[in-house]
Amino acid sequence: MDQNQITALAETRLEPFQHLIDGQSVPASDGQMMAVVSPIDGARLTTCARGTAADTDAAIAAARRAFDDGRWADLPPNARKKILLKWAGLIEANALEIAVLGVRENGTEIGMALKAEPLSAAAAIRYYAEAIDKLHGEVAPTDPAFLGLVHREPAGVVGAIVPWNFPLMIGAWKIAPALAAGCTMVLKPAETASLTLVRLAQLGLEAGLPPGVFNVVTGEGAVVGAAIAESMDVDVLVFTGSGATGRRLLEASARSNLKRVYLELGGKSPNIVFADAPDLDEAAKVAAHGIFRNSGQVCIAGSRILVERSIHTAFVEKLAAHAAAIRVGNPLDIATQAGAVNSERQLKQNLAFVEEARANGRKVIGGTRILEETGGYYMAPAIVADATPQDRVFREEVFGPVVTVTHFDTEAEAVALANDTVYGLAAAVWTANLSRAHRMVRKIRAGLVHVNTYGGSDLTVPLGGVKQSGNGHDKSLHAFDKYLDLKTAWVKL
Ligand code: NAD
Repeated sequence: MDQNQITALAETRLEPFQHLIDGQSVPASDGQMMAVVSPIDGARLTTCARGTAADTDAAIAAARRAFDDGRWADLPPNARKKILLKWAGLIEANALEIAVLGVRENGTEIGMALKAEPLSAAAAIRYYAEAIDKLHGEVAPTDPAFLGLVHREPAGVVGAIVPWNFPLMIGAWKIAPALAAGCTMVLKPAETASLTLVRLAQLGLEAGLPPGVFNVVTGEGAVVGAAIAESMDVDVLVFTGSGATGRRLLEASARSNLKRVYLELGGKSPNIVFADAPDLDEAAKVAAHGIFRNSGQVCIAGSRILVERSIHTAFVEKLAAHAAAIRVGNPLDIATQAGAVNSERQLKQNLAFVEEARANGRKVIGGTRILEETGGYYMAPAIVADATPQDRVFREEVFGPVVTVTHFDTEAEAVALANDTVYGLAAAVWTANLSRAHRMVRKIRAGLVHVNTYGGSDLTVPLGGVKQSGNGHDKSLHAFDKYLDLKTAWVKL
């Protein structure tokens, strides 16, 4: 990464962003725009279209036409693959520009943003493009008088509603398998992270995606998101975001056409450190990065550290040292390790959790607002060193740079504390005891359990939650299950 290049890109004046519907850049039907505020300095960056229900319906109608006339699904698999691979290449060729655009809008540190946003989106598009001609149907082992064929068919029009923390990565985890499967899509970005997804759609057109195959409508969740959820013409709805919105989407599906709804929701993931962890300092360092990178705005963030009592004091000291060493600041500076909190609202929410823990007599290290003079939304990492399971900060997702540390005495107690949550997204276990590691993997209710590491799992493995962290999986070939319907042909021979 070249700092001068990043600085130059960050100075580019941005034109207003519009929807991308049916291959055209179009304004909101009533001409309304939303301000896009940069968390780096609290200043207005640009504007983007404030979508209406009519805009959303137009995008869904375009996706419906594009699906029904077969302009995408009926292309030979190799032709679709070629277009998707070209798209990935264009994203890679423009990666730094896209990453800077995203950082200006959502505040993620540039080092992480470059890898986790355009480059990982391109990697996901490549991965699913390469899989297109490797998906097979089945010949069933039936009575020889019959032939039972199981076809896998694209499910139709997919609605996607995505959050602001990693819009391209999380977006691509849905866009890539859906389009590779032959579906068409209408995507609604989060209000505070729309620009890079519009840019992604423009590059898709340039790569040769037929009009209407991938549409982006920007705007408010309660308007655009709700119109997608209530539509009678959307077959599958995929979502990453909060549990509260997830519930609304399920209700909307029940009220409308019973569209299949796949939810990727929040977490309160336990990171469990036993006294026999292979390297306590490494565990503390990885734990710090596992919660504080991207200012804690990571769905799988290890926000509840559970530590064996005998090492509690030593671990907290190490964790505090690693947290203090994390450089928080302007996310466009390549030396920054944790950028700005996404919005003023999120910053206030984070600080309120910390204040409440302090007021309840908990020992809190860090956790203050910093760099206020910049006008941006920055926060020092916060460690609540002696949290109890009764504390709100132990139970509720903060989605900020706030971690709790709680001690335990036995393996059984560690399991009970780990599972004492409505969530079940991720977890980690640090131990040198192989049997204990596997026992813990079995007993923890979560979609992803790390052993002696945190984060960084690649595209080849699924990511999804259990309990109130959601259903369905992003990543890996399992993601195709959401976008492909099974159809049986039963033939009398
Ligand atoms: P959110 O639910 O408020 O918003 C997510 C998306 O839903 C946004 O695009 C928003 O505009 C839209 N939305 C809001 N209200 C809506 C409505 N009534 N109808 C339809 N759409 C609506 O969540 P957020 O604050 O943007 O994101 C943070 C949350 O997302 C956290 O709880 C976090 O854990 C979760 N998250 C989960 C994962 C995962 O993979 N499980 C990944 C990232 C974030």
